[in-house]
Amino acid sequence: MHKLIIIGSGPAGLTAAIYSGRANLQPLVIEGRAPGGQLMGTTLVENWPGDKRIMGPQLMSEMRAHAVACGAQFVSDEVVEIVPLPSAHNGCSMFNIKTSSSGDFEAHALIVASGASPKKLHVPGEDTYWGKGVTTCAVCDGALFANKPVVVVGGGDTAMEDALFLTKYTDDITIIQLFDKLTASYAMQQPVLANTKIKILYHQAVKEIIGESGHARQLVVTDQRNGEQTTVEAEGIFIAIGQVPNTKFLKGLINLDEYGYVRLHEAKSDRFSMLTATSVPGIFAAGDVADQRYRQAISSAGSGCMAALDVERYLKKY
Ligand SMILES: Cc1cc2nc3c(=O)[nH]c(=O)nc-3n(C[C@H](O)[C@H](O)[C@H](O)COP(=O)(O)OP(=O)(O)OC[C@H]3O[C@@H](n4cnc5c(N)ncnc54)[C@H](O)[C@@H]3O)c2cc1C
Repeated sequence: MHKLIIIGSGPAGLTAAIYSGRANLQPLVIEGRAPGGQLMGTTLVENWPGDKRIMGPQLMSEMRAHAVACGAQFVSDEVVEIVPLPSAHNGCSMFNIKTSSSGDFEAHALIVASGASPKKLHVPGEDTYWGKGVTTCAVCDGALFANKPVVVVGGGDTAMEDALFLTKYTDDITIIQLFDKLTASYAMQQPVLANTKIKILYHQAVKEIIGESGHARQLVVTDQRNGEQTTVEAEGIFIAIGQVPNTKFLKGLINLDEYGYVRLHEAKSDRFSMLTATSVPGIFAAGDVADQRYRQAISSAGSGCMAALDVERYLKKY
């Protein structure tokens, strides 16, 4: 029986592992299919405090080594189901955690830090140039494309937000939208439509991403009305067609919102509120899996810290 199992090894999970390891909770981290999380798929990170420029994989490898030094243990597998067990110790929760190939584990408390996966276009060139011009994070990577032509793929709120954010860096922004109009809310559309730095191409489906010298340079798009193919120059390609939270294994167990993100339920522990609690006592959540708004490494790490401190307080009661 573990005191704490952490599900996920991105910035949220590893920060939770560092804090809970130092608190002697001997956390077990079930890493998932993407050890290190989303930052493993990017190149330069320029907004991690204390490191002006660090490669994503290097940052995550340092975080993991830090967690190991604090006593965290790791299992390389993914969680497929969580079953609450009848509790034995004064009502303290107990959970059975089933993994796909490493068997079952039991724990009194869980931190869900399973993140989210950006939706992809699934076109040729996307994987080849992922992190080399193709990205899903304007806030993270926008500054890398100062004064360069960039494309935002998508017509929803995220695409509008990304296009507007990119106007800080360049005045050559093209939105590629599949439909005949934008799907973003009226309030989000207005500043985009009024901005002369942003051009919108409607009815266009991305067919391929073409690169040169190891970096994305162009998109091939097809006009949905007549099948005509054209190319659009772009050094930065921001795919903003949505994200899918990794919560399949939580369905029916804890409250999720309409998009599948974990709903946090503030809970009381002594005089403190536990802001990372979920609808099930003993299950806490941190990072992108419970956050549609901030979606940054530092905000995920911050909530991982909060979840570990909440678990410490929660377990102290028993
Ligand atoms: C291309 C790109 C570039 C980015 N650049 C930056 C940047 O420069 N700066 C910045 O601050 N942010 C950046 N971000 C955003 C940042 O990566 C995320 O906000 C952050 O990684 C979220 O951390 P997380 O720990 O919540 O989840 P994730 O990083 O998504 O990690 C989730 C973890 O959960 C695991 N997991 C999933 N399902 C299961 C399961 N069933 N069982 C067990 N484990 C599971 C996965 O294997 C993974 O280890 C970028 C994102 C992308 C996609």
